[in-house]
Amino acid sequence: MVRSLLMIPGPVEVDTGVLTAMAQPPLGHTSASFIEIFGACLDALRDVFRAPDGQPFVVAGSGTLAMEMAVANLIEPGDRAVVVDTGYFSHRMAGILARHGAVLESVSAPAGDCPSLERVESALKAGTKVLAITHVDTSTGVLAPVPDLAALARHYNALTVVDGVCALGGETFEMQAWDVDVCLTASQKALAVPPGLALVMAGPRAIQAFEARRRPAGSYYCDWGLWLPIMHAYQARKPSYFGTPPTSLIAALYESVKQILKEGMEARWARHRKLGASMRAAMQALGLKLVPARPDLYADTLTTIYYPDGVDDTLVGRIGQHGVAVAGGLHPDIKGRYFRVGHMGILCDAEIRQTVAAIEAALKDVGYLGEAGAGVTAAQAAYERPR
Ligand code: PMP
Repeated sequence: MVRSLLMIPGPVEVDTGVLTAMAQPPLGHTSASFIEIFGACLDALRDVFRAPDGQPFVVAGSGTLAMEMAVANLIEPGDRAVVVDTGYFSHRMAGILARHGAVLESVSAPAGDCPSLERVESALKAGTKVLAITHVDTSTGVLAPVPDLAALARHYNALTVVDGVCALGGETFEMQAWDVDVCLTASQKALAVPPGLALVMAGPRAIQAFEARRRPAGSYYCDWGLWLPIMHAYQARKPSYFGTPPTSLIAALYESVKQILKEGMEARWARHRKLGASMRAAMQALGLKLVPARPDLYADTLTTIYYPDGVDDTLVGRIGQHGVAVAGGLHPDIKGRYFRVGHMGILCDAEIRQTVAAIEAALKDVGYLGEAGAGVTAAQAAYERPR
């Protein structure tokens, strides 16, 4: 099998140490070895989320389950929720909120933009239980201004829920300092673990809001009331059982979290800033236009790029033929007009160069470029530029 370099926005490339941790014979969920791994992993996750007072939940599932876990435990039918709509995953969040009975207001922006703080503020003024934000919308590559939005939510006494699926572990994020109440993610993105784990970090106000519910959560599997004793038990290094944890994946997550903390959060965020700047510089050197409307909206975990005139979405397959897997468009309004390159997790300049070279080769195949090379040169120069 010829394997392509995986540069889609998740799943991502995974370190061999993480794969090795996953490839050991499965541990029993009440064995002393697994209890230590899971307990230490939960403790360490607080450092990754920058949430010293947070309560982590790690369960088998994907990011969508993590979204549903946040909503199911905070929302009761009739509660108001405001969604900062930056694309496809904000639409999904709105769908989950509506399914759990929320009275919804989505504050939208055209694809590639983010609604203004003023518009979000006027939606919050009506009194809202939850403000939902997608930190990086994977369909647009738009980075939302989480600290400003969370400060607004605090002012109007709403709980802030951040979908960090395409951000956490790559973009700067300080859950406690920014006053975020819930941040959720999945294993297969910037945490650099294979898919299969849903992660939710709940701050003290979110747990209090859960405890004040009038009726149980509208989902059995997601119910914090059933998972809290389990997470507490692992944190206290004691055996417990609710739903069998995916022990091999959790061993892999722990290995990755140790690597992340060894690199250091600031260094990791800085490396992702270099990855983002480098990929954007390359695309701009090739004369390509980015989807985010302004530089302050650029995410560093993925780049979204319009096809140039005369080039269509078969470009993604051509890039694949040059050994690099990238993704097509996802936002319904611009779906066939752009492609997406993920650059999160363990990557560095070598993978960016390889990706840009494959994009250049594909653009040469379709006659857009006469000569290849300008993109790779721009990528490397931007990677090396101090920032
Ligand atoms: N939110 C965001 C921002 C995402 O990028 C994704 C996955 N691409 C999800 C939620 C849903 O995660 P999953 O596909 O793991 O269910």
